[in-house]
Amino acid sequence: MSKKVIVTGVLGQDGANMCEYLLKTTGHQIFGMMRRSANPNFGNTRGFQDDKKFKFIYGDLTDEINIDRLVKDIEPDFFINFAANSFVGCSWDMPLQVFDVNTLGVIRCLESLKKFSPSCRFYSAGSSEQFGDVDYSPQDLKHPFKPRSPYGASKCAAHHVVKVYRESYDMFAVHSILFNHEGTKRGEEFVTRKITKGVARISEIIRGIDSWRGRHGEPAEFDPIELGSLDAKRDWSDSEDFVKGVWLMLNQDDPKDYLLASGETHSIREFVEKAFTFAEFTGDWEGEGVDEKYIASGGRHKYVLVKVNPEFYRPAEVNLLHGDPSLARDELGWKPESSFDDLVRKMVEHDLKNEQKN
Ligand code: GDP
Repeated sequence: MSKKVIVTGVLGQDGANMCEYLLKTTGHQIFGMMRRSANPNFGNTRGFQDDKKFKFIYGDLTDEINIDRLVKDIEPDFFINFAANSFVGCSWDMPLQVFDVNTLGVIRCLESLKKFSPSCRFYSAGSSEQFGDVDYSPQDLKHPFKPRSPYGASKCAAHHVVKVYRESYDMFAVHSILFNHEGTKRGEEFVTRKITKGVARISEIIRGIDSWRGRHGEPAEFDPIELGSLDAKRDWSDSEDFVKGVWLMLNQDDPKDYLLASGETHSIREFVEKAFTFAEFTGDWEGEGVDEKYIASGGRHKYVLVKVNPEFYRPAEVNLLHGDPSLARDELGWKPESSFDDLVRKMVEHDLKNEQKN
């Protein structure tokens, strides 16, 4: 039977991937919630927004009147919340707004569902940033919450709130932890996309001039990719794998929190190397700390591909994230299809293609 699903954050990576997946695999009516803004970017939704089973709705997690009205009108069977202020780096600059959206926004959704659609199944995205300053690896659901940023703290608070509503009101509400998840819909404020777009830009410039092939003397001119911490490690997966896991969680008999991760961890440095490899460049790291650079090897010119810019250091860093997805694997039968190499290759190839079109 066709059900009604509200997906918030539809213009972002996960909201768009969730809608796309549900439109492909279910006959459900999907309501993609977006904020009203002067210049919305429909880049992530173009592939499915004309589907007859899909409808945009305007909504804002900071406005309870608005959330109440939507839930009352639609009476959803599922409410999937991917809307968030999701960029850790800027959460120190706007902590109140981060809590308003990421924590109070979740309470607003739960309150509306409790009043107007109490049998609706609710999912809100948790984050590995909740673990923060980790005690052991890989992290599982028993690991304590030790957030290192206002963003991480906002997600910890939301996690507790969802549990409280689940236990107090017998609601189907889950806040499972998602480790880093990326893809071709990822925003450039995240390090993975910043790197793959930078690799594509630099690769096109260098290949565009003959000097790289050693025929003429003129070097290519370009700005290197500027990054902060190169040694931080993350457990990266493909967002398209994660939305499948979230849908499995929502279709269990009982609500329960899970953790989605690849089970591998890689440094920013490794991501850089891998991304350049898929664009057929190799390089060497030279220098230390703020002077460290990634220099192209093999060509006539010693091109600086990456350099450190302390502007991208964070007031407090999460140095290592490495998740243990065994519970999701054993109980949901979930397992990621994309490996780390698949993910980096897919992002680089996509960005190279876009760069060639421009
Ligand atoms: P996060 O894990 O949700 O914070 O995802 P990000 O992609 O924003 O950051 C992942 C890691 O990359 C963090 O440890 C950052 O400090 C590190 N990093 C290094 N340079 C950069 C940069 O230029 N931009 C971003 N966003 N992160 C960077």
